[in-house]
Amino acid sequence: MDLLVFFLGCSVGDIMKVALIKYTPDPEILCALAAKSCHTKAFPKVTKKESTDLLTQIINPKSIYIVDENQSSLYDFYENGGREKISEESSEEIIRFVSTAGHHSVLEHSSFTFVIEGISRACSHQMVRHRIASFTQQSQRYVNLKTFDYIIPPKIANNTEAMTEYKKIIKKIKGGYKDLLKLGIPKEDIRYLLPNATSTNLIMTMNARSLLHFFSLRCCMRAQWEVREVANKMLQQVKNVSPIIFANAGAPCERGFCPEGDLTCGRLEKIKRKEKLRLDEIKDEESYSSPTESQGKNQAEVQV
Ligand SMILES: Cc1cc2nc3c(=O)[nH]c(=O)nc-3n(C[C@H](O)[C@H](O)[C@H](O)COP(=O)(O)OP(=O)(O)OC[C@H]3O[C@@H](n4cnc5c(N)ncnc54)[C@H](O)[C@@H]3O)c2cc1C
Repeated sequence: MDLLVFFLGCSVGDIMKVALIKYTPDPEILCALAAKSCHTKAFPKVTKKESTDLLTQIINPKSIYIVDENQSSLYDFYENGGREKISEESSEEIIRFVSTAGHHSVLEHSSFTFVIEGISRACSHQMVRHRIASFTQQSQRYVNLKTFDYIIPPKIANNTEAMTEYKKIIKKIKGGYKDLLKLGIPKEDIRYLLPNATSTNLIMTMNARSLLHFFSLRCCMRAQWEVREVANKMLQQVKNVSPIIFANAGAPCERGFCPEGDLTCGRLEKIKRKEKLRLDEIKDEESYSSPTESQGKNQAEVQV
């Protein structure tokens, strides 16, 4: 219901869209390969000379894998069937291991790019606070926003009086924008009038490690509704392409703890109660369906 109100009240002809448009191919196999490289003989031997030319090595990854004659390079390993050798099954095992062992840097090798449209500037401001990411956002300096779309928070959309007031103020701002345009003021200055509600579009790229952190903060009920909505949509989509890395992603309560103290929303307790009920049901089913040793023996005796 909330979602419906959100969509209906979202903005004038504008609805939030979150789409995962590109991602590293085989994101989990690549991270598993990275993890494996820590323990493989084929790990590159970088000589003193090469390490002085670090930049070239980074730009041309092939040059970093200078190895002695008896060792095959990691690059060759990958090119010559390494992808297949690190099967999906062993990726799962390796990624589970590195995730629990805290060896999270291997998760930085896979990146995910999202197009995010129709969110408020209030929301985008929260997104761009995440420094371990890349952003490109619609420019208010160059785009003419005299008829800007805007986001209406559900609590305003659900309150007739607040809604009338909200729309009245937006209309006034739009009028002011047009008036200043007519006076020859450049858009980069007129934008000072624009509210946090103004709709914006951006492209965001994050690696898997940073995304896990982002989901932990922004899928939490303590995050604001709009950025939480964006984060949940992103999470659904990365789970489809990278189910192992993101298996336990989301608010910390998904992983059984809550860092919020007195400010907790109480969801963790609900999750725990639900999990206890589920386990109790399984226990009940097991004790009901599986015969005791003596019952089993009797059945076997009857069959014979
Ligand atoms: C519920 C909520 C309420 C918030 N309220 C406010 C608020 O009132 N005011 C406000 O200003 N912000 C607020 N924020 C934003 C918050 O403080 C962070 O700026 C934002 O969540 C980005 O998180 P981050 O810095 O961990 O992520 P990133 O910038 O992506 O960084 C990821 C991680 O890299 C490391 N890192 C990055 N840069 C540095 C660095 N310079 N030094 C050391 N380590 C670094 C840290 O471990 C960090 O966690 C709020 C966030 C949330 C979720």
